[in-house]
Amino acid sequence: MTLRIGIIGCGAIGQDHARRLHFKLQGATVVALNDIHREATEAFSEASGIRARVYEHYQDLIQAPDVDALLIASWGPAHEEQVLACIDAGKPVFCEKPLATSAAGGLRIVEAEVKAGRKLVQVGFMRRYDAGYRQLKQTLQAGTIGDALMVHCAHRNPSVPEMYVGDMNITDTHVHEIDVLRWLLDDDYVSCQVIEGRKSRHAHAGLHDPIMVLLETRQGIRIDTEIFVACRFGYDIQCHVVGETGVASLPEPMSVPLRSQGRQGGAILMDWKMRFIDSYDVELQAWIDDTRKGLVTGPTAWDGYFASATAEACVEARRSKSIAPVRIAERPDFYARA
Ligand code: NAD
Repeated sequence: MTLRIGIIGCGAIGQDHARRLHFKLQGATVVALNDIHREATEAFSEASGIRARVYEHYQDLIQAPDVDALLIASWGPAHEEQVLACIDAGKPVFCEKPLATSAAGGLRIVEAEVKAGRKLVQVGFMRRYDAGYRQLKQTLQAGTIGDALMVHCAHRNPSVPEMYVGDMNITDTHVHEIDVLRWLLDDDYVSCQVIEGRKSRHAHAGLHDPIMVLLETRQGIRIDTEIFVACRFGYDIQCHVVGETGVASLPEPMSVPLRSQGRQGGAILMDWKMRFIDSYDVELQAWIDDTRKGLVTGPTAWDGYFASATAEACVEARRSKSIAPVRIAERPDFYARA
């Protein structure tokens, strides 16, 4: 059975995912599209060759009998309402991060899914599907460096647009570390702290950049992450896990090591889109395969809620300039770890 997919939100990543699902991956076809910009969506439908039906209202798209599953890639504040509508309709949904823009919103989705009695929601935390992070996790699970004690991370971006302001370095950027480190360490967070570094002259007016986020896990692992989104030199993701007998690091993306003109080195990616490009394919192929079997094996609504609640705690810690607790509701058995 080919999975017939409806996409809500056809901006940058919605269009990328539409092409991926329709032309590249196996077992799915895109049959319906919706966006608040209808004309642009019709133009995309035509120009891309997908030629899906364009719906004026996302509710009608969700209810359409020829739509088996949904992919939501609208802007973050619309996700909660749209995911809830999918749960209400009993249809599987892949929602790009964030699942919700508040902890309370994430919890409402968790409660709705538990009430529905069946896992329907997967959240777009694609780093869990990255080959490098998977190798790092296997190394930790093999016990090669003993127990993890500390983790040093960096999330650097050459620049961000003027509309990227305020706490977006936490809610949009650090949220990827929040999810992937929880998965990597198989642990949960209990407290957080945010420290602002000396402001770079390249950071625009509405943003303090760089910052450092400190997380403490239930097992006592300490994580520091530098978030520096006007670093100019490249899109650079670092993750070094310090264990009892060694250090295990996230592999660097492949690049040709050069010795040339009196220097040695290699290229650093500049475009964030390229860094995890393969993981989007792996993530969505797994989602298609799972959905056809009625399963959710990727990041769940609980993981999405946890990420939103942790991000919210980090924002609170930043405001209070102190260590803040990460307050998490009791996890329903429904989401028990395997
Ligand atoms: P974008 O602004 O390019 O696209 C968002 C689209 O949603 C726009 O076309 C907009 O018109 C549409 N939209 C807004 N409100 C809507 C609504 N209520 N109903 C239907 N459509 C609506 O943004 P983007 O970069 O494509 O990001 C979209 C989402 O994907 C964001 O939540 C973002 O955080 C997430 N994202 C995730 C990753 C990742 O690495 N996992 C990467 C990029 C973006």
